[in-house]
Amino acid sequence: MTPESQNYLLSSIRSIPDYPKPGIIFRDITTLLGDARAFRRAVDELVQPYVGLKVDKIAGMEARGFILGGAVAHQLSAGFVPIRKKGKLPHETVRIAYSLEYGVDEMEIHMDAVKPGEKVILVDDLIATGGTAVGAVQLLRQIGADVVSACFVIDLPELGGRKKLEALGVEVRTLVEFE
Ligand code: AMP
Repeated sequence: MTPESQNYLLSSIRSIPDYPKPGIIFRDITTLLGDARAFRRAVDELVQPYVGLKVDKIAGMEARGFILGGAVAHQLSAGFVPIRKKGKLPHETVRIAYSLEYGVDEMEIHMDAVKPGEKVILVDDLIATGGTAVGAVQLLRQIGADVVSACFVIDLPELGGRKKLEALGVEVRTLVEFE
């Protein structure tokens, strides 16, 4: 990605101090999503490394992962699999508890969301501690997916999420970083 693109994406993300808790700087991508040029560029950059790979499905985490993941799935002509907070999916699910930068929660996936061996890419807006993405990879693997890569618009490298995912054997791609 060109430095110009990177700077454009960085400048389109709004930072909100002390949200949702004191000490957290919330990186708000609603401003990026609302800017047609930034949204398009972010999706194009996320998609670019995977063009030509045979990817079966994109999995996105509720809620911002749905927006980006849906666009990435469309571009790659792949299916989309939602990973949701507990109690939201109507059919049989597999559930996992996970920890995130500011709390603990549980998430679920439909048991039949992928066929065994299908190639899946995980998409979310941001990786911080990696708790959410690690939980998502574990859910996907439990239902038989081959998780080939995970991509995020934002990396918070100091929180170590990328390393946790890589330790699980998942390639990680990110577009911009904040300290
Ligand atoms: P983690 O599990 O710690 O990697 O946190 C990643 C998830 O929490 C993603 O779904 C993000 O949308 C959200 N998140 C965590 N920290 C932040 C932050 N500083 N700003 C915006 N979203 C965040």
